[in-house]
Amino acid sequence: MGYVIEGGTGPWEVVIGLEVHAQVISRAKLFSGAATAFGAEPNSQVSFVDAAFPGMLPVVNRECIAQAVRTGLGLRAQINLVSRFDRKNYFYADLPAGYQISQYAHPIVGAGVIEIELADGSTRSIGVTRLHVEQDAGKSLHDQHPTKSYIDLNRSGVALMEIVSEPDLRSPEEAGAYVRKLRSILRYLGTCDGNMEEGSLRADVNVSVRKAGEPYRTRCEVKNVNSVRFVMQAIEAEATRQVAVWEAGETVVQETRLFDPVRGQTRSMRSKEDAHDYRYFPDPDLLPLVLEAAWVEDLRAALPELPDARRTRFIAAYGLSAYDAGVLVAERATAEYFEAVARGRDAKQAANWVTGDLFATLHRMGRGIEDSPVSAAALGRMLDLVADGTINGRIAKDVFDAMVESGEGPDAIVEQRGLRQVTDSGAIDAAVAKVLAANPDKVAEYRGGKEKIYGFLVGQVMREMKGKGNPALVNAALKQRLEKR
Ligand code: ADP
Ligand code: MG
Repeated sequence: MGYVIEGGTGPWEVVIGLEVHAQVISRAKLFSGAATAFGAEPNSQVSFVDAAFPGMLPVVNRECIAQAVRTGLGLRAQINLVSRFDRKNYFYADLPAGYQISQYAHPIVGAGVIEIELADGSTRSIGVTRLHVEQDAGKSLHDQHPTKSYIDLNRSGVALMEIVSEPDLRSPEEAGAYVRKLRSILRYLGTCDGNMEEGSLRADVNVSVRKAGEPYRTRCEVKNVNSVRFVMQAIEAEATRQVAVWEAGETVVQETRLFDPVRGQTRSMRSKEDAHDYRYFPDPDLLPLVLEAAWVEDLRAALPELPDARRTRFIAAYGLSAYDAGVLVAERATAEYFEAVARGRDAKQAANWVTGDLFATLHRMGRGIEDSPVSAAALGRMLDLVADGTINGRIAKDVFDAMVESGEGPDAIVEQRGLRQVTDSGAIDAAVAKVLAANPDKVAEYRGGKEKIYGFLVGQVMREMKGKGNPALVNAALKQRLEKR
């Protein structure tokens, strides 16, 4: 049995569908030439179209449409060669036109699929219902003046993709995996930067609960959740609330809710009764959007290798576990770093170094792999020094730490600090003899049958040699001296 919430009447299944808003990477807005950079001075990136001056006409930005098509192709979705823009009418201070240009009945992208991977190693295909493009609204600022609200229209008119899933998700874990995978695909495609802190990716989370085998029950929508962790927490909180409602003999009413991460609860924002009637109608200022099939095929041909394909290739080409491959392909920059290290070398070793020491270091320093203190070339060179016997595996850890600290390459560090592996049998045998002479009681215990003592003796010899002894030669010399009495 999968994820359930226990109620007085037994287990409840959770049903989830996500509507993700992803900001399109594009220098200009969806229908104007104004810039889109994050963090600009308020109202410094606003054209007359974005401010809805009378008589201004929208002109569709070809690059934004290409980004939506690329995304659709990356989601293995149907691309609709004819789509249409509609006006979605509502009043809000940060929406000067009184309507948002969106796509309602005829979206640019139809059904697609996202494969998610779960902690137990299983995978599931989650249906994507559609993707449509629309304008973002402006932003009201309520904390700048004691009695007034300000409006920043920089975001007004920026292109968004709304990506709607089927109600196929069944647990917070699956929903979290879905958002992470979608984000990964968008970043590979270069169609959205996926930056949830800056609001480039945000999710509306639809949740209902039911008894196994029943049809779907009424859902509630939790609006504008802006991190993977909050998506998962909001689902748990909302599903638990709905179970309590049903268990009390009451009825869940369809409504829009907000998640309060501090309290770990959702609360009502507006109910279905005051739901908007948007009065969608085709925007008379815009012709239907007609794409040429050949243009779509050009975009398809230019797509990069995406995470699923790369993961499969990493497993086949490098013999990685599905888990390691999944971790390494999640970010394009990580996958490229790994390949630069692994190419022509022991791939399993490369994977261990990247997911182990390198990730730990980046995490500690709060850096991304793009600003890694150790380049892929330097890490690869260090693995070469291990492979050709210049240094041993233990000393490699020290060399790595020294590379992080000093920014120097592995050859310089090995030479300057005298870290070359010692293979001289005379020096090794002398160290062994010294350790045995200093530990007569341990030697006697070992010879009396306590084999565990062996590891201690190896450790002492290595210590005597400052970690630089060749492990195979140290073992051979030690065994030889222990056996001859
Ligand atoms: P609307 O047009 O009212 O927004 P949609 O059919 O577009 O409704 O669904 C919006 C989102 O809600 C989709 O992601 C869908 O998967 C999800 N959804 C629909 N029904 C349910 C349900 N019973 N439980 C959970 N999610 C649902
Ligand atoms: Mg909807």
